[in-house]
Amino acid sequence: MSVHQVVNPATEAVVAEVPLADVEQTDAAIEAAEAAGPAWRAVAPADRGRLLRRFSEQVDAHSEELAQLEVANSGHTIGNARWEAGNVRDVLAYYSAAPERLFGRQIPVADGLDVTFKEPLGTVGIIVPWNFPMPIAGWGFAPALAAGNTVVLKPAELTPLTAIRLGELALEAGIPEGVFTVIPGKGSVVGERFVTHPSVRKVCFTGSTAVGQRIMRGAADQVKRITLELGGKSANIVFDDSDLETAAATAPYGVFDNAGQDCCARSRILVQRSVFDRFMELLEPAVKGVVVSDPGAEGTEMGPLISAGQRETVRSYVEEATEDVDVAFRGEAPTGDGYWYPATVVLPRATTDRVWQEEVFGPVVAVMPFDDEADAVAKANDTAYGLSGSIWTRDVGRALRVARGVEAGNLSVNSHSSVRYSTPFGGFKQSGIGRELGPDALDAFTDVKNVFISSRSISTLN
Ligand code: NAP
Ligand code: MG
Repeated sequence: MSVHQVVNPATEAVVAEVPLADVEQTDAAIEAAEAAGPAWRAVAPADRGRLLRRFSEQVDAHSEELAQLEVANSGHTIGNARWEAGNVRDVLAYYSAAPERLFGRQIPVADGLDVTFKEPLGTVGIIVPWNFPMPIAGWGFAPALAAGNTVVLKPAELTPLTAIRLGELALEAGIPEGVFTVIPGKGSVVGERFVTHPSVRKVCFTGSTAVGQRIMRGAADQVKRITLELGGKSANIVFDDSDLETAAATAPYGVFDNAGQDCCARSRILVQRSVFDRFMELLEPAVKGVVVSDPGAEGTEMGPLISAGQRETVRSYVEEATEDVDVAFRGEAPTGDGYWYPATVVLPRATTDRVWQEEVFGPVVAVMPFDDEADAVAKANDTAYGLSGSIWTRDVGRALRVARGVEAGNLSVNSHSSVRYSTPFGGFKQSGIGRELGPDALDAFTDVKNVFISSRSISTLN
């Protein structure tokens, strides 16, 4: 059995060793999940809800432990990591109400009763990336379990620790064995098996476009259901009538949160030409003011990147860029051990530049001017992605027009928020397929069954 050494990205110290599952172990876990299915779906709705509430309470009781684990494993700031543990708690609490509210419909038909049921799919495979190990796991397993599915979950190889702990907390909460199983392992082994094993009826994947495409192709063989969340290149659009001070002061946090390793990062800032210079003057101190330090220290706003490899990828967009990329200014970052990279603002020469088109997934933001509303929308949409974005203006009509014009799943006006557990989250275009969270997430974990019950007697039918 191979073992993965979990490394603290802020110090490069080994913090744990985690055995990686092979194909046989993966198959055994999937088969145990399938075997646990009939009993789990037979649990009375109120009892399933109660178990999920208890799971939520367990997460709450261990939230500081989970947060500290995430700081050590992922280099997340302690403030973010606490929010992330709280998010798992809240998502579980939100979907604990779902088993008793998984309504079908009664549809008027002649000669009988027609009703629909939202049936669980069976076993659901969830593949989690390293950027938000806790929330992305919870967005999958909470609604999946609430809808009566069993779950096998593969954390990213780099960040398995909180997922493993969440699996233990589920058992401690009374969720039966086999209902929620965490399987640490490689994407090419465990993740692939979720796609090829016929007992896994759905795969929820968050990660790179290349792997998402591979999963979609593989899922076709079994007409397997998929939800894909594949990142973005989101625009932060700043109009000349906006509160420019607030727009500039908040822009760094809209992109550098989690060191830019955020699928919703507003990594392209579009500024109306008439206020471009003023915006850049205001942005510089805001970027330099981002506190980049020990992620475990209270008050730190940005930690390191997840790995040496990720830092190399980020560097390739700036230091080793093939096209000329002007660095406008950048912040400070610790030197020495750890995968540090400073918050960096670049001025691309053309919209075809790699740094303007590709997801950097690091603390690099590109800024470009635009002329008018139509130009802003056109530039915002000039990307294969469509996940999120922000619009800064005091004109409500303009805010509405631009929000309707930008092809993205999650937009915010005069704010950079993308994620609330009670509202739908997901992407347009190559940012993905399907929606997570919100009131309709259960639809992604159920199939609709229609049943007609005849009211006519047998003799009439003959
Ligand atoms: P990735 O390879 O797509 O990894 C995401 C998850 O998929 C991990 O759990 C990974 O397992 C698993 N996986 C890898 N190959 C697989 C396969 N053939 N079948 C099934 N599952 C598989 O992403 P990455 O290589 O870590 O990151 C590369 C880039 O992807 C980043 O720089 C960023 O641009 C983007 N990304 C986006 C998001 C997002 O939130 N949308 C998240 C992460 C990365 P292993 O951990 O074992 O590889
Ligand atoms: Mg990969």
